[in-house]
Amino acid sequence: MKGYEQFLCDGTVVKLGKRLRTFGYDVEITYKTDSYNVSEILKSTNRILVTKSLKLHKQLGGIYLISDKLTDLLNEISTKIGKPGPTRCAHCNAVLIECDKSTIRDKVPLYVFQTHEKFKYCPNCGKVYWKGTHASQ
Ligand SMILES: [Zn+2]
Repeated sequence: MKGYEQFLCDGTVVKLGKRLRTFGYDVEITYKTDSYNVSEILKSTNRILVTKSLKLHKQLGGIYLISDKLTDLLNEISTKIGKPGPTRCAHCNAVLIECDKSTIRDKVPLYVFQTHEKFKYCPNCGKVYWKGTHASQ
């Protein structure tokens, strides 16, 4: 097995894809749902397709999900994929870096700064995260 698994979430599971990133999965997200565009992305990235479209799944393989609610989707997919890697940015998929509290003082609401001790930030887009997977603007 080559490191952590990498996934492509198509337009049917965009929210799920973002949530999976915050759990530590490497997820590329596309808003497309047609087989031509999705297969082109799969070819160029070698990722595993995650979709709720039976048609796409039959054509392109990968992981087919049937649940409706986000929490049910998360339960469903957790039985089909391996353990996650380091936590990632929900916005851009970069691996988050732990940062010293003093360095993010201006970047989060005062209440959050005062009530949380551990923060991580995204080296790519600069979003700051704290426990509960919330992100600053
Ligand atoms: Zn980011």
